Amino acid sequence: MPIRPPVFRFAPSPTGYLHLGHALSALLNFEEAKRAGGRFLLRIEDIDPTRCKPEFEQSIYEDLEWLGLEWETPVRRQSQHFDEYAAALGKLEAEGLLYASYETRADLARLITGRDPDGGPRYSREEGLSSEETKARELRGEPYALRLNMQEALSRIAAPLYWKDDEKVEAEPARWGDVVLGRKETPASYHLAVVLDDALQGVTDIVRGKDLYEATAVHRVLQELLGLPVPDYKHHRLLLDEHGKKLSKREKSTTLRDLRASGWTVANLRKAIGL
Ligand code: GLU
Repeated sequence: MPIRPPVFRFAPSPTGYLHLGHALSALLNFEEAKRAGGRFLLRIEDIDPTRCKPEFEQSIYEDLEWLGLEWETPVRRQSQHFDEYAAALGKLEAEGLLYASYETRADLARLITGRDPDGGPRYSREEGLSSEETKARELRGEPYALRLNMQEALSRIAAPLYWKDDEKVEAEPARWGDVVLGRKETPASYHLAVVLDDALQGVTDIVRGKDLYEATAVHRVLQELLGLPVPDYKHHRLLLDEHGKKLSKREKSTTLRDLRASGWTVANLRKAIGL
């Protein structure tokens, strides 16, 4: 049997300009793929129509070219694949693993006491709207999100689940509660789309920031439920600003396009991010 080359990917969301943290992620993936004789893919994660902008996507291509990266084409853009995410949702729904949740953001803030590993509300049905209120909103045709019944999901798969990172990690998906898999405005969510796309594109090695380490537990559950292969993971260090906070797309000072415009070279950048 011929040995398949490993497949790496960089999967930014065009919700802002790329910053130094993205450069670290993109370069680690690209260089690791090269070292391993593997493939490198770029994927545009643009399922959120309110936050994604064409100019940010355009800038991703320009920034990555400036960094000297080369990727396979055509680039997969998630907004062109909603039918695939909807099909996966349909499968999970048919298996009785999803339910409609009509809570607004304000409802969640008022009702939900638990926190998920990201600090967001850890949703459980008991804390959500009463069944009468849910029914009333359903009859009024209000928008709803589709949530995964996590407890039911875990009862159907062979837990505990693990993933390979720098070491073998035991997943703790229950800490996330009933996560949203289909959003009110789109038949997908980050968790669902990322897991499906990595499988569809044959990604074998996921190199991404430590901010997504905890989310891997949800991804492992979805891989089991949908019968998808499990890639190896590596969650790399995050770059922090001078206040010790994670770099964000909202801070202009470290965007690649601004650094480039102010005369930075790629060598300057590599030094700044410790490569
Ligand atoms: N699209 C995600 C982001 O920009 C990254 C997805 C991933 O690497 O799993 O944060």
